[in-house]
Amino acid sequence: MSDAPIDSLTESAIAGWQGALRGELIRLGDENYDVARRVYNQMIDRQPRLIARCVNAADVISSVNFARTHNLTLSVRGGGHNVTGFGVCDDGLVIDLSPMRGVRVDPVRRTARAEGGCTWGDFDHATHAFGLATPSGIISTTGVGGLTLGGGFGHLARRYGLSCDNLVSADVVTADGSFLTASAEENQDLFWALRGGGGNFGVVTSFEFRLHPVSTVLGGPVFYPIDKSEDVLRFYREYMAEAPEDLSAFFGFHLAPPAPFVPEHLHLVPVCAIVACYTGELEQGEELVKPLRKLGPPALDLLGPMPYPALNSLFDALLPPGLQHYWKADFDYELSDEAIAVHAEYGPKVPTVPSGMHIYPLDGAIHRVGKDETAFSYRDAKFVHIMIAVDEGPERMPEYTSWVQEYWSALRPFSAGGAYVNFLMEEGEDRVKATYRDNYERLVEIKRKYDPSNLFHLNQNINPMQAVA
Ligand SMILES: Cc1cc2nc3c(=O)[nH]c(=O)nc-3n(C[C@H](O)[C@H](O)[C@H](O)COP(=O)(O)OP(=O)(O)OC[C@H]3O[C@@H](n4cnc5c(N)ncnc54)[C@H](O)[C@@H]3O)c2cc1C
Repeated sequence: MSDAPIDSLTESAIAGWQGALRGELIRLGDENYDVARRVYNQMIDRQPRLIARCVNAADVISSVNFARTHNLTLSVRGGGHNVTGFGVCDDGLVIDLSPMRGVRVDPVRRTARAEGGCTWGDFDHATHAFGLATPSGIISTTGVGGLTLGGGFGHLARRYGLSCDNLVSADVVTADGSFLTASAEENQDLFWALRGGGGNFGVVTSFEFRLHPVSTVLGGPVFYPIDKSEDVLRFYREYMAEAPEDLSAFFGFHLAPPAPFVPEHLHLVPVCAIVACYTGELEQGEELVKPLRKLGPPALDLLGPMPYPALNSLFDALLPPGLQHYWKADFDYELSDEAIAVHAEYGPKVPTVPSGMHIYPLDGAIHRVGKDETAFSYRDAKFVHIMIAVDEGPERMPEYTSWVQEYWSALRPFSAGGAYVNFLMEEGEDRVKATYRDNYERLVEIKRKYDPSNLFHLNQNINPMQAVA
């Protein structure tokens, strides 16, 4: 741990500010400092000066003002899942929203208001009691904040759109300490930018979402022998092209986990899988998923009716916090035979149980929103693929990282060009521009209006200082 002294001026300022906070202020050297600075990806080892555990919007306003006035590097932590570690910084101030996890459901209006530090597990738990849900990701420990601000897709996206498409309004603390509501009626430019533009525009203290009647779903994985992966991928392509929007499915390469529900002969064996989620009538769903069972025989079939929160947390145990992560991803306009051949070559080499490659569908309701209606631009992509190398320690990560890089590079000629911001690591400004395409210029303009000095720069940054065409 660094023992850099905090100068006396800042020290007295800190003491004055601390008195105005309702939440805890954790400082370098405090007993819980090392736990509080940790984020999901164990590769990230940053040492902030101060961590403000905000409990309400007043704490957030005060923290933003303190960071700006004292010229401190500022990071904002929602669920802490970002693999680049944007939720924590070196030598600056962390606004930690993790105490702000309340969710209020309005079952009559079918909306829910979630505080800025909620995880999807918090959200699903609250809305499921009313038989309602909104599109989230595939893991329940991911933050509502980062996932929604970058776009957000998972099991419900084909039917109900991206998470950000279901945002009704957001309360935002901007760089000058103002508290604004962004919606279709108020601060429309900010509302446009928040839906895909990431954490560039301020701290969202609460998100209001539209809810949908989703309760029990027919969901889960069907695993296939690895030597069938080309057939399974071709099947997956045709299946998704025909599937109704209330059926979603993603494809994956994994090592079968050595878990009690997996037959021993499959333990640590490479497999491919299709993970489905059907949200319509169960009887009809059973008919629709029959082809998944006929394609085969499956190596293991775990597809069945379950509550939506159970599906959304099914893989949590495989990806607990505190592991080393290296990711790479891209959007795809199609899943060509050439791309399938690359997948069949690299997918079976998946190195560890939590590592993998996933292909998510990005069509249906996502395509019904125009490319320029929100900051999220890739409304014309059909799929997004991501390969992730994950391990407990750093020793073998260089080898596993090479697997990701080689796999990603081999697919690059068949991909759409840009990548989903929430799957990017620190890959440079060109990758960010390629992600926003024609929306980039407008994002720079809005950034100049709401954060001209780039206080919120620890994100896939839209730099307000740069010249745009
Ligand atoms: C295991 C795992 C599974 C995932 N699965 C999916 C998936 O299925 N679908 C998908 O779309 N993505 C998925 N992701 C990617 C995920 O969307 C990103 O990692 C996202 O950044 C996580 O958000 P967070 O709030 O947890 O992260 P953080 O690290 O806390 O924040 C990420 C970024 O968002 C900003 N931010 C967070 N909250 C706020 C807020 N309230 N106000 C302003 N800025 C904020 C932060 O400043 C930072 O720049 C997954 C990630 C992991 C690790």
